[in-house]
Amino acid sequence: MTVQLPSGETVPALGMGTWMMAENPARRDEEVRALRTGLDLGLTLVDTAEMYGGGAAESLVGEAITGRRDEVFLVSKVLPGNASAAGTVRACEASLSRLGTDRLDLYLLHWRGRFPLAETLDGFAALAEAGKIRHWGVSNLDLTDMRELTALPGFCQTNQILYNLTRRGPEHDLLPWHAEAGIPVMAYSPVEQGRLLDSPVLASVARRHVASAAQVALAWVLRLPFVTAIPKAGTVEHVRDNARALGLVLTDEDLAELDRAFPPPRGPQPLEML
Ligand code: NAP
Repeated sequence: MTVQLPSGETVPALGMGTWMMAENPARRDEEVRALRTGLDLGLTLVDTAEMYGGGAAESLVGEAITGRRDEVFLVSKVLPGNASAAGTVRACEASLSRLGTDRLDLYLLHWRGRFPLAETLDGFAALAEAGKIRHWGVSNLDLTDMRELTALPGFCQTNQILYNLTRRGPEHDLLPWHAEAGIPVMAYSPVEQGRLLDSPVLASVARRHVASAAQVALAWVLRLPFVTAIPKAGTVEHVRDNARALGLVLTDEDLAELDRAFPPPRGPQPLEML
């Protein structure tokens, strides 16, 4: 299952997140094993950020992808406070050094801050020119910001946003806009940081498919052809479980049951972020 970027390149629809990794030294080896298992299973889109663990998550990702860099579609993010033109270049170079690589496949503005978008885009352009990033995109941008962004020169490849069964607000206007613009959305916290997984409704749908609640939550996000998802799993077992979501196709009955429990938005809602 893949999603096509505006560049024409395809990326795996299901990837892996890394927020909260590298926070506990006792879990580090298992986290590295989890990421490597994900690569073995084709979850080769790996999302990280300079923010995560103050750079420690990027170092852990660097370790996990050692010797396997070419298999990975590597995504990282610049903090808004660093996102001036020169600051974006400096932040990216520091990320590359922690990741042990010479390039990112996709570099995102983590959320909109005090620097004008055009300045950050100048930084992205300089990085692309130098071969340090292949593509750029954004995160946590709502419709007004996306309209402003796409009026500027250059090609945004994705908008990484909070989207899962309990955060359906973007379905009202942001997701339709993305579908129309041909810019994919990358859904973060697709299992609501684990909070969704106790839902009896997910359990009921999961039972019908002999699947897990996590697989149902992920298959639901991935039902849209222009959406990728990046669950974070810190154990090999959870990565294996999540990878099996790729084989799960929800029926109309499943979708109706999920709609009753987690209703779609009735009107515009501001984009939420975690
Ligand atoms: P998430 O992926 O929705 O949930 C992660 C939690 O779910 C972890 O506690 C994990 O436990 C658990 N989990 C995952 N798979 C499971 C399974 N199969 N069974 C049971 N539990 C499972 O939340 P997230 O980490 O917030 O979001 C995912 C990624 O999106 C982040 O890691 C980060 O890369 C990105 N993100 C971006 C932003 C942004 O502002 N752009 C914000 C938030 C997140 P274990 O760790 O024990 O496996």
